Amino acid sequence: MIGPTGAPVAPPGAGPKDILVTEVFSAIQGEAALVGERQVFVRLTGCNIRCDYCDQPEALERRPGPCRIEATAGRRDWTETSSPLGIDRLVDVIGQLWAQVPHHSISLTGGEPLLQGTRVEKLVGLLAERGWPVMLETNGTLVPPLKRMAGRLAYVSMDLKLRSVDHETVSPSTQATFLGAALATGATTWVKVVVGPDTDIAMVAAASAGAPRAIEVFLQPLTPFGVATTAPGPDQVLALQERALSIHPRVRVVPQTHKAIGQL
Ligand code: SF4
Repeated sequence: MIGPTGAPVAPPGAGPKDILVTEVFSAIQGEAALVGERQVFVRLTGCNIRCDYCDQPEALERRPGPCRIEATAGRRDWTETSSPLGIDRLVDVIGQLWAQVPHHSISLTGGEPLLQGTRVEKLVGLLAERGWPVMLETNGTLVPPLKRMAGRLAYVSMDLKLRSVDHETVSPSTQATFLGAALATGATTWVKVVVGPDTDIAMVAAASAGAPRAIEVFLQPLTPFGVATTAPGPDQVLALQERALSIHPRVRVVPQTHKAIGQL
């Protein structure tokens, strides 16, 4: 169970101008509403929950460590450095990738970006000042830091967590509050629901019912990873979408396309 106080978190070993980063690179967004768009990905370190299917185990612990930075956009010619990075340096690194090929936006992902509170707030502010659209990829649990970013986020891609899939105990009421706060920031917002072979169809129905009708709901069939070894079958995915569509008008199924094409 998480403790979503949203209080600023001081990463161990980091000063107030530093931020924990696992990797920075340019790639094709493979999920949800911006699928196919070219983005600079900034993977921040640390997450407040542990989903069974998480494919970023190296980014979960909130502590200093190695960080890899792509030198040439899309070429995976990594430079190894140490995290935390100065926030100004991180903005420079992002800018160098941004300038090399046309990018649609910047994906702040993780881990859970909001875990680094005021540091992420500062980063988002600096990126927005430069006119770069920022997409926040979030597990939808830390409300206060999100509220402080009002007006500076272009997109919020929020996970709705289902206990029957991730085996975490994220509070539905916290997620509902978060979703309301995301919409209030002015960002284009959607929700993503990872569905697996044991997904409780009633939970998908409840999640769909909780999403405002104006936003899109993306069902994302689980890609096996870690202890989550089985994807849902095609009949299951069809049934889940049919149930969700009986409740919500905008439900699309989008698998992780970046994995299908061998991208990061
Ligand atoms: S919220 Fe995201 S980063 Fe955190 S454990 Fe779950 S899948 Fe991994």
